[in-house]
Amino acid sequence: MKTLKLKPGKEKSLLRRHPWVFDGAVAKGGGDPGETVRIESAEGQFLAWGAVSPTSKIRARVWSFDESQRIDAHFFKATLSLAISARTFFDIKSNGVRLVHGESDGLPGLVVDRYGDTLVAQFLSCGTERWKQTIADALLALTGLSRLYERSDASVRELEGLPRVTGWLRGEGPTTVVLQEHGWQLALDMAEGHKTGFYLDQRDNRQAFFEAARHGRWQQVLNCFCYTGGFTVAALAGMRAQAPHADGPAEQGHVTSIDSSGPALEQGRANAALNGFEAHQTTWLDADVNTSLRQFHREGRRFDAIVLDPPKLAPTAAHAERAARAYKDLNRWGFKLLNPGGMLFTYSCSGGIGVELFQKIVASAALEAGVDAFITHRLGGAPDHPVGLPFPEGEYLKGLVVVRRC
Ligand code: SAH
Repeated sequence: MKTLKLKPGKEKSLLRRHPWVFDGAVAKGGGDPGETVRIESAEGQFLAWGAVSPTSKIRARVWSFDESQRIDAHFFKATLSLAISARTFFDIKSNGVRLVHGESDGLPGLVVDRYGDTLVAQFLSCGTERWKQTIADALLALTGLSRLYERSDASVRELEGLPRVTGWLRGEGPTTVVLQEHGWQLALDMAEGHKTGFYLDQRDNRQAFFEAARHGRWQQVLNCFCYTGGFTVAALAGMRAQAPHADGPAEQGHVTSIDSSGPALEQGRANAALNGFEAHQTTWLDADVNTSLRQFHREGRRFDAIVLDPPKLAPTAAHAERAARAYKDLNRWGFKLLNPGGMLFTYSCSGGIGVELFQKIVASAALEAGVDAFITHRLGGAPDHPVGLPFPEGEYLKGLVVVRRC
């Protein structure tokens, strides 16, 4: 068994069970890509079993902190089994479920989503790459499914020295599937879509948006960074489900959705139709959100609800300052375009921006826009995207529901 010896004092994060070893902490040793090594302190004390990534700044990722644990097929099956059974603790209102969420499930670099009767996996580290076939076999055995599609084409694979790989790993068939989420349907393509095809992490936040639309008597809704229109469909469904008011019939409402991805917008349009909404209820704009918001402001357009769900602007804390400016700018325009009484659903999926900082950014944005507002909900990722206690980076998705008072 090869070892990876740390420099003096560099064992602290591992003693707190954080699963990463950075290259700067390593004194000597290592192994082949993905090989399991014994990670030990400068004094030779056992710290963990981990997989080596020889070319990455994250030089090793921990499989286990238990010295008696053997890293073998049995280990992967047991760990995957625990992850999969944890998803049954909750009533997840969808047939799209994240079964494995990387570090937080004890499997650094592995993401597995289930879409109906198909699994989609991302193997993002040398360790998961090395154990790919073992993991694939265990996943099929544990779920009873026969189809597993691989989407190992994320850019982080390059940092690991791994090529991009996509295609069927087990079985074959169509790569499109229609998810039944809450009360609506959303089609996706696991071969072509972003990540594994869909943003499951926003599932419960789409439900919150639906509820607000049901009660809010909204007429004009704006969904920025709409991807395939998940929040758009939720809003339309909410407006359709409005109870008739004493002073008039339910509003039909209109949703404007913006994204810079043509294929995503096409899918969004199809998703609205799939749920029985008429073309005149939606507008789909292939545009840059920042430009559109300014243009809407010039045109005097205003909205009753706005979603801001930009891509990750700060992957790590090092990018936080520049990203903070971008988030503030975006939210400032959001507030300016909101009618008094309107609701802003604003998100950050940046690991480098914490909950407190995000709230400060949104508060500054409101101040600069000259509006008074209050927070009604603090949102996060759905429960199938857990956050490992020793791994705060896992809490990447945070959201605020903010009502413009005046
Ligand atoms: N809210 C979506 C997920 C959004 S992911 C959902 O619930 O499914 C972020 C989206 O922002 C991606 O679809 C990406 O294509 C889009 N995007 C990135 N930069 C953009 C920009 N400058 N203007 C418009 N869209 C952008």
